[in-house]
Amino acid sequence: MGKLEPIHLRVGPAFLTYLQAIVSAPYLKLDEDSRTIYGADALKQGRRPDAVVLPADTKEVAAVVGLCARHRVPIVPRGAGTGYTGGAVPTQGGIVLSLERMNRILEIDEANLIAVVEPHVVTGDLQAAVERVGLFYPPDPASLKESVIAGNVAECAGGPRAFKYGTTKQYVLGLEVVLPTGEVIRTGGKVVKNVVGYDLTHLIVGSEGTLGVITQVVLRLVPKPPVQSTLRATFTDVESAVQAVINVIRARVVPAAVELIDGDSLEAVAQYLQVRLLAPQGTAAMLLLEVDGVPPAVEEEAGRVEEACRDAGATEVLRARDEEERQELWRVRRELSRSLKMITPLKYNHDVVVPKGRIPELFALVREIRDEFNLRIPCFGHAGDGNIHVNIMVDPNNQAEIARARVAERRLFTGVVSLEGSISGEHGIGFAKAPFLGLELSPEAIALMKRVKRAFDPHDILNPGKIFS
Ligand SMILES: Cc1cc2nc3c(=O)[nH]c(=O)nc-3n(C[C@H](O)[C@H](O)[C@H](O)COP(=O)(O)OP(=O)(O)OC[C@H]3O[C@@H](n4cnc5c(N)ncnc54)[C@H](O)[C@@H]3O)c2cc1C
Repeated sequence: MGKLEPIHLRVGPAFLTYLQAIVSAPYLKLDEDSRTIYGADALKQGRRPDAVVLPADTKEVAAVVGLCARHRVPIVPRGAGTGYTGGAVPTQGGIVLSLERMNRILEIDEANLIAVVEPHVVTGDLQAAVERVGLFYPPDPASLKESVIAGNVAECAGGPRAFKYGTTKQYVLGLEVVLPTGEVIRTGGKVVKNVVGYDLTHLIVGSEGTLGVITQVVLRLVPKPPVQSTLRATFTDVESAVQAVINVIRARVVPAAVELIDGDSLEAVAQYLQVRLLAPQGTAAMLLLEVDGVPPAVEEEAGRVEEACRDAGATEVLRARDEEERQELWRVRRELSRSLKMITPLKYNHDVVVPKGRIPELFALVREIRDEFNLRIPCFGHAGDGNIHVNIMVDPNNQAEIARARVAERRLFTGVVSLEGSISGEHGIGFAKAPFLGLELSPEAIALMKRVKRAFDPHDILNPGKIFS
């Protein structure tokens, strides 16, 4: 975990007077409660800001950022605060800029398959709105009922559907961005093809609020697949489950979701739901697979998936016969987060990625770490793209266990990199993973990234203390 610097109060009376001239009183929050609420995200660590500012529009965002630039006050853009790496919380005081008043879907262009949205549109709300007109916005982070489009863009969020449909970056065509100097730029636009100049759009996607404040997003949509078929297959070991995924790909099926849940996670869900068994006795891995498309193709592909799982030695394969059964199969996956919270409120949730053929080696590494450090580490994730959530569970009151977990996570990251993987596939670096950046990136690559940051933000006022330690 990254270490926070001692707090510096950056906001003096003169600065506050200027701020009040930009945003009216209810939208400038200085009270303890607001500063506490906006001083934490899903990581549950961070520093309180000196002030929270809720601008109404791009003009106000630009004015606030320009003011912060002139006064060298740190500024942290914030979406819904569901990030797992401390991205939306200050490391050194300053202001949190919450875009929550900018929450309108501006346009759904059915002819051109495009949506234009303000930053604080909840991802699930956008999905529902486009699905009402037969369109589809595929990125589906599990947080989609809370997290917002700008937060997803800033983190390049992914989800179960990434294997077939890609992550957020595949859907961002253009952005309106307030630079750390207060200038406003537009990148990309409403066209799918655009090769004019450097691709600033995709430099800003995944930049974790360190290069600019996103104030508008142009998104690509696709037609909504008419039907889905969902299957659940159980295995006595992770190797067989991974073999099933490889068989599915060899059968030339690209499922919309391939979720892998290990035995420890299944046990946690069973405990939470108070059922004795969720799968046949001895299940060490469960796959949830979903294919989507037009009915005859889906039927045929579901058959091929079933065969692929049986060939890999599945102990049981169930196929949902209707929507109710489909929801029932997905229930285990949906209840995972809540179930793990029941074991302990504190988990270090790491979203590592390895080439999918190496998932069994990742699980072997986790077993080694679990035994050596005496920790409970349930794992689940997106087997289709090798992105596995490794949850190191710790008792928040047990300092010795926390210390062991810290050593264990470094061991995990080192091991993942040696498996040709990456230390983060979804959650980004924030400040929590900043100390580990050098495990994956070369000093030359980090130095170049720092030069890019300086070119955008010469005074290091936008989300300082993130990505680089
Ligand atoms: C239960 C749960 C499940 C999750 N599942 C997934 C998952 O399946 N896949 C996944 O990828 N992630 C997942 N996450 C992590 C998190 O939801 C994502 O990272 C999400 O994209 C964060 O969105 P947010 O709106 O909450 O952003 P925040 O947490 O508020 O901010 C995230 C980052 O974006 C920056 N930012 C926010 N708004 C702007 C803006 N307007 N301009 C510039 N920068 C901005 C912030 O500074 C910060 O660095 C999950 C989190 C939880 C709690």
